[in-house]
Amino acid sequence: MRSGKDIFHRDFKAEPWWWEAWRPNNALSQDPPARTDVVIVGAGYGGLSTALELGRNGIGAVVLERGDFGIGASTRNGGMISGGTNLGKGLGGKSPIAEELERKKAELMGAGAESLSVLEDIIVREKIECGLHRNGRFVGAWTPRHYADLASKVDTYNKYAGAGSEMVPRERQREFIASDYYFGGMYARRAGHLHPALYYKGLLEAAHRSGAKLCAQVEAESIEKTAGGWRVLTSKGPVNAGDVVIATNGYTGKLTPRLQRRVVPVASHIIATEDLPEPATTLIPELRAIGDTKRVLTYYRPSPDGKRLVFGGRARFTAAPPEVSAPALYQYMIDRFPQLDGVRITHVWTGNVAFALDYMPHMGVDEGLHYLLACNGNGVAMMTYLGTQTAKKIAGGRNAPVNALDGRDFPDHALYNGDPWFLPMIGAWYRTRDWIDRRLAA
Ligand SMILES: Cc1cc2nc3c(=O)[nH]c(=O)nc-3n(C[C@H](O)[C@H](O)[C@H](O)COP(=O)(O)OP(=O)(O)OC[C@H]3O[C@@H](n4cnc5c(N)ncnc54)[C@H](O)[C@@H]3O)c2cc1C
Repeated sequence: MRSGKDIFHRDFKAEPWWWEAWRPNNALSQDPPARTDVVIVGAGYGGLSTALELGRNGIGAVVLERGDFGIGASTRNGGMISGGTNLGKGLGGKSPIAEELERKKAELMGAGAESLSVLEDIIVREKIECGLHRNGRFVGAWTPRHYADLASKVDTYNKYAGAGSEMVPRERQREFIASDYYFGGMYARRAGHLHPALYYKGLLEAAHRSGAKLCAQVEAESIEKTAGGWRVLTSKGPVNAGDVVIATNGYTGKLTPRLQRRVVPVASHIIATEDLPEPATTLIPELRAIGDTKRVLTYYRPSPDGKRLVFGGRARFTAAPPEVSAPALYQYMIDRFPQLDGVRITHVWTGNVAFALDYMPHMGVDEGLHYLLACNGNGVAMMTYLGTQTAKKIAGGRNAPVNALDGRDFPDHALYNGDPWFLPMIGAWYRTRDWIDRRLAA
């Protein structure tokens, strides 16, 4: 593994490359009012899409963000979008969740598919310029067995998520990626990528236009039940509201201990290269997003202008300094594209995703609090969707679920109290399993 300073560009920054286009700030911020209809905790895609849809329904919303707007995962991600296929990962297993997924796959995967439509509708309706490319995704198979596993699911993805998927045998792989690293893969047409920070900026501005009161640098510190609803005590005074929505995903903390015990925050890391010596089309002919089936997955894509590669993965499962995460990701990158050896990294960054213990996204109501949590690494479309759906539910005064993901059992575990001390061990175990699988495949 290259570990020397030679991989870092002289202008290297330990922050998202996306922030060169739009950086977290508090320009639209105001102080929280004493009263509103709905308080939303967390101003990521989830919280903002909730506020936007509430505003469209004439319902007052206050969004509380403890940092600057955009400081969470929503400006740090890979910007890869898809719908439904990410829910199909558990298909074919033996667990109770896999059996439920099998039984309800039409509804659950249908909700996943709808998430992409909702995302695209918002981008068009709110005129958000965010480099949206709807050019599909290639998922590389780490082993021949993984290829067979993908092949066994392709019809389900197409039938229930409308994924437009097809299998790509290894002989055809170079139509999708200039690398022989994988054992073939799956191409899903109903997928693509966008610029995550520009999408965030557009959503923030749309929520503001809709009338939501957006409050940066305001932490929700505790929540109390009142006769008429809720009082949220914040670092800038109390806010009374009829409803509260928790949209804190990978940053869920002590404010909501019951929810904190249901999500595991896992770090994901990304590097961006300098401008490549050759356009990214020489690596990824149609400039598509790429993922793979490794347990310690990698995901990568060209920058929207096709000049750089943005390469992400679970270099570590917890936060790690650049000198640890960057060389690991760099090695993964040149394993796939040896032709990039010597290209320098200009940016490296980290953010938290939230995993549920059943690997499914969740929305619902817990002891009276609405929540939308657990993106499981796929939240650009999904958290936008769950926010929009949560707002529709509040606006409609409904108790009944509004989609198949709403109100499902949100499992916890007797041995997990919200502190993911075990992640380094799981990371090491996954890396070992990947290594063994690959050796056996060879
Ligand atoms: C490195 C990385 C790569 C990713 N790549 C992809 C990808 O390619 N495609 C994809 O679909 N998804 C991806 N994701 C996941 C995606 O970014 C997330 O699912 C999505 O951004 C979550 O949005 P959110 O609104 O739920 O949470 P966030 O955007 O994380 O926002 C939650 C906010 O809550 C705030 N908060 C927490 N507690 C409080 C409190 N008490 N008071 C006030 N504010 C509080 C936090 O400060 C934070 O800003 C990636 C994530 C990471 C980190």
